[in-house]
Amino acid sequence: MTLAASAAVLLVLGAARSRAAADPEHASLSVVLPAAAADRIYAAPGAEGRPLVVLDAGHGGSDPGATSVSKEVSEKQFTLAFARDLRDVLVERGRVRVAMTRDDDRYISLDDRAAVARRLGAGLFVSLHMDSAANPLARGASVYSLSDVASDEEAARFAAAQNRGATAESDQSSAQAMLSDLAMRDQMDASAAFATRLVGKSAGRFELRPQPHQFAAFHVLRRAGTPAVLFEAGYISNTDDEALLRDPAHRKAIVLALAQAIEADVAAHSRGQS
Ligand SMILES: [Zn+2]
Repeated sequence: MTLAASAAVLLVLGAARSRAAADPEHASLSVVLPAAAADRIYAAPGAEGRPLVVLDAGHGGSDPGATSVSKEVSEKQFTLAFARDLRDVLVERGRVRVAMTRDDDRYISLDDRAAVARRLGAGLFVSLHMDSAANPLARGASVYSLSDVASDEEAARFAAAQNRGATAESDQSSAQAMLSDLAMRDQMDASAAFATRLVGKSAGRFELRPQPHQFAAFHVLRRAGTPAVLFEAGYISNTDDEALLRDPAHRKAIVLALAQAIEADVAAHSRGQS
């Protein structure tokens, strides 16, 4: 979809975005679309035409997500911190352009998150979350890619919880009306390939769950219309993981692995591989 065409699909402009668009300090680092299009694209000078990645900070506004074991931080704060760090690293490295589903504390529906990727013709959609479990010993990061069949019951339950609040037209039949079965299969295969790449970049740099690549039927991933994964950076229900996720140095290691996986993925696709 061209930018001109995307202007036909409008977002209501928030006051914060209007201020950001008018901020001359950011002019050298970003291309601000006309106000009507609303989607802000972050890119280094000279990165025009580079593939676009949409970063989705999970939860927000009236939906705080899980609360950390210390009770001091909610998931929506962690996800936004990660999304901002990852955006800044990707823009600085200059190999991709970045858009965000949110850059402040606001509620956004799953459909609206996925719609950002479709509207901008994104090459990749990365949804960022923190895990939480009743077992206080559960630890480590994991990545979920889209599948019709969940990798296990826990993954199926997790997807069902994530999908709660999706609109009625969000069921499989309407999603399949948007994409042919073949295109959906390609989207799933490319998502799984990215998840594999991300696990590879992460291994040995920070703790992963024993089976770090999981599969489940996520509404937001299915509707993104592009390769998409949901990344869980660690368990905020675990004391050690919470401390690590609050540590900027540890966050940086995770963000760098994500950035390298994203860059490797878009580079592979622009060479015509999968
Ligand atoms: Zn979450």
